[in-house]
Amino acid sequence: MSRSSKTVIIGGVAGGMSAATRLRRLDEAAEIIVLERGGYVSFANCGLPYHLSGIIENRSSLLLQTPQSLASRFGLDVRVKNEVIGIDPVAKTVTVVDLDAGSEYVESYDFLVLSPGASPIIPSIEGADRALVLRDIEDVDRAMSALSGTVKTAVVMGAGYIGIEVAENLHLRGLAVTIVQRGAQVLSALDSEMASYMQGKLEAEGITVLLQTEVSKIHSTSVLLSDGTHIPADLVFSSIGVVPETTLAVNAGLTIGARGGILVDDFQRTSDPSIFAVGDAVEKVDAISGDSRLATLAGLANRHGHAVANVITGQHAVPASAALGTAIVSFGSVTAASTGWTEKALRAQGREIRVIHSHPAHHAGYYPGAETMHVKLIVDPHSDLILGAQGVGGAGVDKRMDVLVTAMFAGLTASSLAQLELSYAPQHGSAKDPINMLGYVNRNIAEGLTQTVQWHEIQSLLESGSVLIDVRTEAEHDAGHIPGGICIPVDTLRDHVGSLAGKNVIVHCQVGQRGHTAARLLSQHGIQVSNLDGGYLTWQAGSLASHSQPTPLKGK
Ligand code: FAD
Repeated sequence: MSRSSKTVIIGGVAGGMSAATRLRRLDEAAEIIVLERGGYVSFANCGLPYHLSGIIENRSSLLLQTPQSLASRFGLDVRVKNEVIGIDPVAKTVTVVDLDAGSEYVESYDFLVLSPGASPIIPSIEGADRALVLRDIEDVDRAMSALSGTVKTAVVMGAGYIGIEVAENLHLRGLAVTIVQRGAQVLSALDSEMASYMQGKLEAEGITVLLQTEVSKIHSTSVLLSDGTHIPADLVFSSIGVVPETTLAVNAGLTIGARGGILVDDFQRTSDPSIFAVGDAVEKVDAISGDSRLATLAGLANRHGHAVANVITGQHAVPASAALGTAIVSFGSVTAASTGWTEKALRAQGREIRVIHSHPAHHAGYYPGAETMHVKLIVDPHSDLILGAQGVGGAGVDKRMDVLVTAMFAGLTASSLAQLELSYAPQHGSAKDPINMLGYVNRNIAEGLTQTVQWHEIQSLLESGSVLIDVRTEAEHDAGHIPGGICIPVDTLRDHVGSLAGKNVIVHCQVGQRGHTAARLLSQHGIQVSNLDGGYLTWQAGSLASHSQPTPLKGK
């Protein structure tokens, strides 16, 4: 009988541990060694921010498994505080430092799986050694110890998903939090008008958001900003992004991709056939463009770890699915989620796109507790396939985003969203669910029944002579309107058809629905008309986003 195979796995958290446990389920005889630099394996990285506030009260809740529990259930040889410092792909060995013993040893392998993750970026500025990061249990311990002193103020560098989670939890702990963001909006994975709802929520809850600003220097209790002002900062967190951990791979001569991650094939195999790599350290294939991309997401790490075990055992191996980059974050009652490409990224590539904004209630409006959500769909007008989607709002955003992700994965057209038979009772949805509505709106545009314009096109259309008609009621118009718009409520629009003949008309309402009715009315009278996609609400969100300027600060 041939010797059972020996697999060494570097990194014992998301990707690494998925590979290890799946491998054991497929091969009871395999020798499986997991080498982890840190003191813990299989911990809940995604839960770390929530321990800062005490939402996840017990530190032990973050520790999902121990080397002992993994040994008993899965027969794994898990070695924490064992750092791999080198790979010899010819000898098929790794050199390991036992960090407690301070000794070095060599371990052989038949297969090697790299899942070393990505390291948080800390800016190279004076005082950066005071910046906290959040990647592992040791980091959260450092942060908790810093929080145990007298701390009142915190600066969070970066307004991405982790930055917002850290800010929320420090805020819940009672700290005055300032987010300092280099870009012109929070959550760069969203388009600006969608991200502005999240910025509004952050500010409404008392978080200071400084855009187009950087931290230039970290002092002992304050930071110096790029505009020359100082703000108090008992704590400073760096959440400005991560870089794939590729040192081992580079030194072993493995191929690194153009995005800086380890290059793997569809079966997670690196340029060395005995070495696999998964998780944040590797490049993925972008589901929309087919190009290489980085996507640092737990679901992908877990899925690809699972896939590697299939390949190693030669069982159930299927090519890895491409990455959409689906992500979600909440701040209090507001959730923001995105998948696929943004409008800004597609426009920057010169892609022709169809864009739809809608603002539905998350369940039937007549049933108590309906909350408004903001949804955006970006569609290829030629194939009608969905290229990206974003959602911001309260309840129900996650559910709609997951339906859209499923539709994208399955290759459904945007118009076919209208036909999905989704679960409905008044407290759960609507007979025409927000997803169905996106399908209807898309089909109306695709079939030429209605034309739309985007919020960012209004200004130039008005300058070139278009007439903007607000078809909401006068009360709604008076409460806030787009400059240059004339109020003609939809119910009286037929009386004005004569005066609009021959003009290029843009109609808008609050969210786009009455605008669509108005556009249909006018176009049937031969008037050239477009409806403002997403109505006043989208225009307002977009205008707020484009006018976001660095907030003036008081000097110290
Ligand atoms: P990791 O899980 O980071 O594991 C890598 C391990 O390898 C580390 O423990 C490291 O110590 C070890 N290692 C590295 N080098 C060596 C070496 N030389 N020798 C031995 N061991 C080594 N994703 C989501 O999808 N949703 C979320 O809500 C979400 N929230 C997050 C919140 C936070 C605070 C963080 C940090 C991440 C979050 N992520 C989230 C991302 C997600 O955690 C990662 O995508 C996922 O953990 C990547 O898995 P991985 O196996 O590649 O790396």
